[in-house]
Amino acid sequence: KKERAVANLNDLIRNIPDFPIPGIQFKDITTLISNGPAFAQVVDTLAERYAPLNIDAVVGIESRGFIFSAPLAYRLGVGLVPVRKHGKLPAATHRVEYELEYGSNKLEIHRDAFPTGARVVVIDDLLATGGTVAAACELVQMAGGRVEEVAFIIELEFLKGRDKLTRYPVYSMLQY
Ligand code: AMP
Repeated sequence: KKERAVANLNDLIRNIPDFPIPGIQFKDITTLISNGPAFAQVVDTLAERYAPLNIDAVVGIESRGFIFSAPLAYRLGVGLVPVRKHGKLPAATHRVEYELEYGSNKLEIHRDAFPTGARVVVIDDLLATGGTVAAACELVQMAGGRVEEVAFIIELEFLKGRDKLTRYPVYSMLQY
């Protein structure tokens, strides 16, 4: 029954060709999260996976990572720590710059986000090249946290993002 339900999640991911630029097939999750039972199933699956791991905090990556990390943190009864684009977090931050296909990007985390040794799971919607989540994991470590696992709803396997994440366990719900 569970397998059939997860197979249905695939049908709720909308493919948008040539967005935001020609040659990219965008995986649109708005069609998944607007479906109540499907959204609940995604959050429940993550909650069941991480409930036994004694997680101290959930880290969500701006912006679509917030959508899944917030209800997961609530379900686990732990706090949510945002990793945000530079200039958004108001207090003292750690910052990491990383390369994109075109140019670079900077992500930040609050320096006092968690106590030293905190057990953290890092959430984003989609794993592509892995640059974004690798930077987020570096920030977690700079802030004193330990990455227990990184989790995604969607993994684009052909981009081999896992190769950048060999230091952490990686979990994804749907693979393309
Ligand atoms: P990356 O750093 O290459 O792993 O890129 C991951 C980030 O870019 C994630 O936050 C995704 O939301 C977004 N992203 C990259 N490629 C796609 C895609 N084909 N469809 C939707 N989102 C994408």
